[in-house]
Amino acid sequence: MIAEVIVDIAHSEVDKIFDYIATPEIVPGCRVIVPFGNMKVEGFVIGVKEFSDYQKDLKQIIRVIDDMPAITTECLALMRFMCAKYHIPCALALRQFITAQMRKEKVGKKLVTIGYLNKDIPVSDMLNSINKNATAQANIINFLADGKSAQLPQLNREFGGQAVKKLIEKNFILTEEIRLIRSPYIAVTGLHKQVDLVDAQIKAIESINNTDKTVTLLHGVTGSGKTEVYLRLIKQAIEKGKSAIMLVPEISLTPQMLTQLRATFGDDVAILHSGLSDGERFDEWCRLRTGDAHVAVGARSAIFAPVENLGVIIIDEEHDGSYVSESSPRYDTKDIAEFRANYNGCKLILGSATPSVTTYLNAKNGVYNLAVMPERINKKPMPEMIIADMRKEIRRGNNSAFSTPLKEELERCLNNGNQAIIFLNRRGYSQRIVCRECGYIAKCENCDIALNYHSVGNVLKCHYCGATYKMLKACPECGSVHINYVGTGTQKVVDDIKALFPNARILRMDNDTTSTKEGHLKILSAFGNHEADILVGTQMIAKGHDFPAVTLVGILDADMSLLFADYRSGERTFQLITQVAGRSGRADEKGVVVLQTYQPDNAILRYAINYDYQGFFARENSIRRTTFYPPYATILRVMVESEEDELAMEVLRNINEKLYDIYLKNQQQFLFYNKMKSPIKRLKNKYRYQVLIRIKQNNDQLINQIYNLALPEKTQKTLVYIEVNPSNLS
Ligand code: ADP
Ligand code: ZN
Ligand code: ZN
Repeated sequence: MIAEVIVDIAHSEVDKIFDYIATPEIVPGCRVIVPFGNMKVEGFVIGVKEFSDYQKDLKQIIRVIDDMPAITTECLALMRFMCAKYHIPCALALRQFITAQMRKEKVGKKLVTIGYLNKDIPVSDMLNSINKNATAQANIINFLADGKSAQLPQLNREFGGQAVKKLIEKNFILTEEIRLIRSPYIAVTGLHKQVDLVDAQIKAIESINNTDKTVTLLHGVTGSGKTEVYLRLIKQAIEKGKSAIMLVPEISLTPQMLTQLRATFGDDVAILHSGLSDGERFDEWCRLRTGDAHVAVGARSAIFAPVENLGVIIIDEEHDGSYVSESSPRYDTKDIAEFRANYNGCKLILGSATPSVTTYLNAKNGVYNLAVMPERINKKPMPEMIIADMRKEIRRGNNSAFSTPLKEELERCLNNGNQAIIFLNRRGYSQRIVCRECGYIAKCENCDIALNYHSVGNVLKCHYCGATYKMLKACPECGSVHINYVGTGTQKVVDDIKALFPNARILRMDNDTTSTKEGHLKILSAFGNHEADILVGTQMIAKGHDFPAVTLVGILDADMSLLFADYRSGERTFQLITQVAGRSGRADEKGVVVLQTYQPDNAILRYAINYDYQGFFARENSIRRTTFYPPYATILRVMVESEEDELAMEVLRNINEKLYDIYLKNQQQFLFYNKMKSPIKRLKNKYRYQVLIRIKQNNDQLINQIYNLALPEKTQKTLVYIEVNPSNLS
């Protein structure tokens, strides 16, 4: 028998299949140790055959790593799909299907030894036979008397190792090695609320079940009850003996979805995300792989869950940018989900109150099925939107981060014993250090990026590479001491609220406060238990949360994201405002949203405050069509990065020579072509150059050609990669 093996080495030069002599138990999907050169390396068996074309010197597989093949047949097919579509090495695709720590066998099963009483000997006989003074032994026997078992280390700790040892010697205690399952978020449990579906939910489920299309867009306003629809669809799948994948955009949202999934499906749910410990992650992965659990929930990477026989895949908040991986391997979760849905013949549900323009266009054009839930549960009104014109506030002499309407609403909210969410647009977004004399801006030494001021620790931080600097005492350029920060960060907002409402209890949620394990969960559950009145935060509090006591949402800088130079900034702003506003007034009391802006007449803001998705889509769609932007075109950014400036430039020149040729031959297909420095010309110590390309739609062949010409130009010291419709062009 011959096994075809992909060795797990990063170099693309070894991205080919090697033949090894195998024993019969080796099947496709097994991970194995093989000799490679003079090393022993891990590899994936992707096929077996009887004969090899290389008859000479075939080496033998050394051993199999896992108990059962780690890679399913479906994932082997998915690997081929990913390699062809994203031009990545096989090993890189395969690595997505296991947990990182499984490589090099850094994590494995956790075995523990337990002890219990020998049932063949009556307890009274045991007690009678031991020495009268051996109280510890008697205590252990009594402790384990009614059929209990306990881990040996625990018994040793509580009763003393000597006594335990004696009882084992006497054969009174029997021991056994068992596998311990490390479970994340044990504290997350809840009772399943049995609700009767409302009409809109019933219709949505029928529409999904009856369509012959694979993908359904579930377009439901915030609070329309999408979660309940997801739960029912998963239940249908489970009842048919199938499995399900449920994706949420951010780790911070996972605990909440998990509560509901656990309440409904109990231990049949497994969670996959980077916030888990290595052991937990491995055990959850195993439970899915062995079929112990059928429902996988998590952020983006959970789309690779090792479940078989999928009955449904759900992507909640489908418009969210986090579903596109922006680092190696670059992929779009929706591509992967669609592949898996087609492979299994199951449905893929994309849920959102604010679908992306591309998704909605697909639904309108009939590529996707469209199910709509246009009203909140029980026809609860959408929250009232109040616009606060910050220009007027400044004219009135109010320079604080809070407008008069927001202050008034906050006061009313607190007096009524309700809760408020204060949202601002990105951690310390504009907290830059600027010299008021000469205009100097403090920047990171590794990156060409302005540093952000953090009042905790009085330091400057680079949000791109994480470097930390001491706060400056004077301007390095002109020596002036009038160097200070401008703008607002979460910490500053908290300080401002404290000054206005000294008795209010405030929680802050941003990257600083959620860095610990299960940090999100702690803050969210504290707020959910009404241990605080106000939650201040960035993007991560925008989505999905269902806090019934929240009646006020304040959006401090509603127009901030309009300032980004990105063709999607209008779409982003609309989505963000709608999502944040949707957190208000979800239970009995009416909700209010205060939207602070310097551009109260902006068209996007107008659509958002009127909850007019159709109007927003019509405008945005026509702009994209007439200006040729996605979904009416494809943007490709060919990036070159190197620590050496000269080298990066040279590689870019080589790439440009080849690509420019293609451009000249296919000019009618190109909408834009330019070779340039990247807007951030240095990042994490690397110089960055790029070719920016925009081509007409449906040009997979041309895209493949660009990949095939550019990628081989990479060198040992120079990274080359291609981004498709990148969300960030900096
Ligand atoms: P969405 O995800 O669409 O924003 P949710 O699924 O969070 O909305 O639902 C909003 C609220 O309505 C939740 O508190 C949920 O428990 C409740 N809910 C959902 N469906 C029903 C129903 N059929 N009857 C009563 N309450 C419901
Ligand atoms: Zn200066
Ligand atoms: Zn930096």
